[in-house]
Amino acid sequence: MSNQIQQCIIAKFGGTSVADYQAMYNSAKIVANNPNVKVVVLSASAGITNLLVALAEGRDSEIRKQHIAKIQAIQYNILEQLPENPILREVIDQAISNISSLSEAASLATSPALTDELVSYGELMSSRLFVEVLKQLDKHAIWFDVRKVMRTDNKFGKATPKIEEIKQLCCAHIKSLNIENIIVTQGFIGSESSGKTTTLGRGGSDYTAALLGEALNATQIDIWTDVAGIYTTDPRIVQNAKKIDEITFAEATEMATFGAKVLHPATLVPAVRSNIPVFVGSSKAPDKGGTIVYNTNSIRSELPLFRAVALRRRQTLLTLNSLNMLHAQGFLANVFAILAKHNISVDLVTTSEVSVALTIDTTGTSTDGNSLLTKPLLDELSTLCCVDIQEDLDLVAIIGNNLTTFKGMAKKVFASLEEYTIRLSCFGASTHNICFLVKSSDSESIVKVLHQSLFE
Ligand code: ADP
Ligand code: ASP
Ligand code: MG
Repeated sequence: MSNQIQQCIIAKFGGTSVADYQAMYNSAKIVANNPNVKVVVLSASAGITNLLVALAEGRDSEIRKQHIAKIQAIQYNILEQLPENPILREVIDQAISNISSLSEAASLATSPALTDELVSYGELMSSRLFVEVLKQLDKHAIWFDVRKVMRTDNKFGKATPKIEEIKQLCCAHIKSLNIENIIVTQGFIGSESSGKTTTLGRGGSDYTAALLGEALNATQIDIWTDVAGIYTTDPRIVQNAKKIDEITFAEATEMATFGAKVLHPATLVPAVRSNIPVFVGSSKAPDKGGTIVYNTNSIRSELPLFRAVALRRRQTLLTLNSLNMLHAQGFLANVFAILAKHNISVDLVTTSEVSVALTIDTTGTSTDGNSLLTKPLLDELSTLCCVDIQEDLDLVAIIGNNLTTFKGMAKKVFASLEEYTIRLSCFGASTHNICFLVKSSDSESIVKVLHQSLFE
């Protein structure tokens, strides 16, 4: 068994790939057609996590009823197209009933642990349904609760996986399962040491697939989604965006970090660490091919100067002006010490002698930067400097290779931006990116203009 599972592919299907019966069927076909797929990682059916997050925020009874009815309708639509199965119906009904009691509890008092418990039902239900779709295709599939192996810390809402424990638990629980079976499990959710449910942050199912891939020595991680690969920019914004056939881990990591939603930002960390290629393709159109992400040595084509344009929305900019720090030392050290004390992760930074502008990293959380800026934090910063907070900003990033050594790069990039105001720009820390913070109302046109000038 262990020999065979070491040859395995982990296939992850996102929300739209399990949105309804037809989508689940297309996805199950992909699994059935590839005997190397041993583990299937699933997201919740599209829309369900958003409804569960809303319930977890605490809603009045009328809204709760409406949301639960929507969740039930999505899952029943799938259930009703499967052969009658009273046990499965009972499992789904039990999940809906648990969602109902947990959301009632959330309407009285919310908590991050309760939220994670509640949202986990999205993945728990979709994975139950998918097992039955695979069985319809005559595949032996078994449902597996990923929380048995996906050990994390207890930072509910964005928990950090414990890599070594996950490896050991996978060894104990997954490698001992029967090889004839395809293991169907959940993305996104995990559990902390006392058994409470945690989540890896929004969009975290990609990360689950990569973590399981690493723990099980997978030969490849396949991310099946609603686009046929990674494109030069979000194809929803630019219809002319071009599919990238192969891309390095470094480039794809930059894209994911700077907002290319097609991959959760942490996904490539385990893949890079264990050198496992990642494939991205469309579950609706698997014949269209996709993108393969691997290390630089495997790339056959020359690395381009410009690779892609990414957009990350809803950025919060904090500008701090020192009150009396001209020519004094330690301003930045003090600022960063306060931010660290309040668990604020800083994203972009630009500085001058007496001021610093920075954006707050909210990647993977369901919150925005502004809600992380608590009163105690702002009060403490105010003892040191004047604090200005600006919202309605988006981050546009150009991703490429050796950008710091290419003459004329600035002219090429800035010339196309002459119509726009740029609130902040960052360049030079990495040879892979140039970032701009721009008004949210301008960001999509900036992406279009940059894409046209760099790729079309
Ligand atoms: P899933 O639910 O399958 O995880 P996501 O919605 O999280 O899917 O990610 C897929 C979406 O990512 C696409 O529909 C597309 O709009 C968006 N996207 C953003 N940037 C890119 C890019 N550079 N290439 C492809 N898709 C992108
Ligand atoms: N269902 C979760 C979300 O919507 C995780 C995922 O889809 O990756 O964020
Ligand atoms: Mg996703």
